[in-house]
Amino acid sequence: MEFAEFAARAETIAEEPGDLATTELVSDLLSDADGDLPTVVRFLQGRVYPAWDGTTLDVGPALLHEAIARAAGPNVDADDVESKLAEVGEIGAVAGSYDFGGQRGLGAFTGSDAESDDLTVAEVDERLREIATTMGEGSEKRRLDTLFGLFNSASSAEATFLARLVLGEMRIGVGEGTVRDAIAAAFLSTSGDAGDASVDANGTNVDEELEAVDDVDEEGQAVDDDTNEPKPVETVERALQVSNDYGMVARVAREEGRAGLDAIGLEVGRPVQAMLAQAGSATDALEEWGKAIVETKFDGARIQVHYDGASVSLFSRNMDDVTDPLPEIVEFVEREVDVPAVIDGEVVAVDEDGSPLPFQEVLRRFRRKYDVDRMREEVRVKLRAFDCLHVDGDDLLDAPLTERHDRLEALLGDTDAVSEPVVSSEPDEIAAVEEDALDAGHEGIMLKEPASTYAPGKRGKNWLKRKPAVETLDLVVTGAEWGEGRRANRLGTFLLSARVSGGESADDSPPNGGDAVPDDGDDVASSDAASDAYATIGKVATGVTDEELESLSERLEPHIEHESGQTVSIAPEVVFEVGYEEIQRSPTYESGYALRFPRFVTVREDKTAADADSLDRVERLIDSQ
Ligand code: AMP
Repeated sequence: MEFAEFAARAETIAEEPGDLATTELVSDLLSDADGDLPTVVRFLQGRVYPAWDGTTLDVGPALLHEAIARAAGPNVDADDVESKLAEVGEIGAVAGSYDFGGQRGLGAFTGSDAESDDLTVAEVDERLREIATTMGEGSEKRRLDTLFGLFNSASSAEATFLARLVLGEMRIGVGEGTVRDAIAAAFLSTSGDAGDASVDANGTNVDEELEAVDDVDEEGQAVDDDTNEPKPVETVERALQVSNDYGMVARVAREEGRAGLDAIGLEVGRPVQAMLAQAGSATDALEEWGKAIVETKFDGARIQVHYDGASVSLFSRNMDDVTDPLPEIVEFVEREVDVPAVIDGEVVAVDEDGSPLPFQEVLRRFRRKYDVDRMREEVRVKLRAFDCLHVDGDDLLDAPLTERHDRLEALLGDTDAVSEPVVSSEPDEIAAVEEDALDAGHEGIMLKEPASTYAPGKRGKNWLKRKPAVETLDLVVTGAEWGEGRRANRLGTFLLSARVSGGESADDSPPNGGDAVPDDGDDVASSDAASDAYATIGKVATGVTDEELESLSERLEPHIEHESGQTVSIAPEVVFEVGYEEIQRSPTYESGYALRFPRFVTVREDKTAADADSLDRVERLIDSQ
C-alpha cells in the first residue's frame, strides 16, 4: 500500500465522529491492506513494533524537528519548526504545513528512499525500524539522515502522519477497542464489504455468529446462545490478550479465521496480559464455589517471568520489560528453573529477615535504569510466585488453577518463592489464614476458584482480593431507629451521610461513573433538612456495645428533628468514624453509594458535621478499591 493512501484514509478516519462509522472505515482499510496488514494495524495505533516488544524508535523531539527542518529547505531551521509548534500546538500539523521535496538530490545522497518519491507503507516501516536499530558511533547522524530522507519524500498529508508515527501518537481516534472490533468485522464476519463469503476460513457460517446475543459464559464472555461459542469480537479479544500483537492477530484472523485465532497460544518471551482480581469476601467465595484456594496477597508489583531455556525476561503488569532493574530475580530464576517456563507472581521488597516491606520500596527498584547495583544493596527484592502459565512445552492457560499450582510447586517447590495456598471450605479457617497473613505484614489474602482457568486481562470473579478495611470514613449521623425489646428506649441503627461539597444537593449532582442513580423516592432514606448538604450513604448497627448505645442515644436525642414510628431524623451534628469492607454503587441511598459491612469505630468528638468526609472522598476511595 502506498503511504499516501494510508495517510488519506487516516485523515478520513480522523474526521469521522461516529464510533460505528469509524470502526467501519478502519475495517475497510484493513481489508484493503493486503500484505501490509500487520504494519497498517500497528501504524493505526502509532506503533512500529507490537505492544509487547520493548523496542522503541527513541527519536526525541529535537531530532524530529531537525529532520523536518532539513527537508523543508535551507530557509527553515529547527528553531523555526519549534516556534511553529508553539503556535500550532501539534507536530503533525507543523510537518504538514511545509512543502517538502526540494532537497531531493540530498535525499538520494543519503541513500534513503533514493529510487522513488512514492513512499510505501512497507518502506516507511523498514526505514523506521532502521532508525530504531541504528546504534553506536555516528548513529545520531545516520538516524537523522534516514528521517530526513523520509520527510523529503513526503507529501503534506504523509508528513503529518509520519511525524505523529515517529512520536507514537496518531491522533485519529482509533483506540485498541476500535482495532479489535474492526479486525472482527473485516475478517470474521460478512458485515460491510470486508468479505464476500458467509463462511470463514474454517468453514464456519459466520452469518449465524453475528446474530445479536446477550448470553455470557462463566468468565463473563459474550457467547452465542445457539452454539455457545464466543462472539467474533471475543475471539479476537482473547487472541490479543494472549499475544499482545495486533498486527499478527489481524493477519491470523484474515488467513486462518477463528480456528487460527483460537490456536494462538502463549509464546515464551512474549508477555500475556495479567489475570486480575475483584474485591470480595470469604462468604462470596464459598457461596459461589463451595471451597476456595486461599493465599497471601503480597504487597508488591506484579511480574511475569519468562524463561526460554537460555535467558530470562521479566515483564510488568503493563507488559513493560523490567528485566534489567531486577538482576537478582533473573539470577534466581536462572539458578532454580531448568526448563522453559512462564511464571506469574509478585516482586516484593523485604528486610534482612525476609519480612515484607511496603510497596513503595519495590517501586524504587522497578523501573530503574541507572544505579541498579547500588539500589540492589539498598532495597532487597524477592519473587513470590503464585501461578504458572507454561512449563516445558505445556501451555497451562486452560488448565485448572490446582494443576497450575502443582506445576509451579514442581518448578520452585524447593525454594521459598512459591505462595503456599490452602484449600478451604471453612470461613473460620480462611479467617485464620487472613490473620496469619496480616500478622506477617502482608496486605491481605486472595481467594481463588480452584477449578478456574487463567483468563488473561480479565478482572473476573474467579480471583477475589480481600484486604482489611484500612480506610475509615467520618460520616454524619442524620437519622436513626429506635431499638426493640431490651434496647427499646435506645437508638439502634444509625443512618449515615457524607458531606456534599459545595453545598449542592446530591440529586442535583449525581455521582459520576456512568451509573445514573434512579431516585425513586421510596427507596431513598430521608435526611430531611440535612439533605441540602449531606447525602445518605448507609446504616450502621454493628460494632456498638450496650454501654456505647446508651451514651450514643443520650448524645443524639437532643438533635432529633422528626419521629415517625421507629424512625427518627436527626440534625447533622454528630460524626461517627465508620469502618467498612467495600464501597458499592447503590440506588438505595441518596449518595448513589452504599457501604458494605459498615461497623462503628468511634464518635469523632473532635469533628463537626462540616469536617465530615465528603462525597468526593468517597468517590476517590471507590476508584482506589
Ligand atoms: P489490586 O492491585 O489491589 O487490584 O490486587 C490485585 C493484585 O494483587 C494483582 O494484580 C497482583 O499484583 C497482586 N497479588 C499479590 N498477591 C497475589 C496472589 N497471591 N495472587 C494474585 N495476585 C496477587
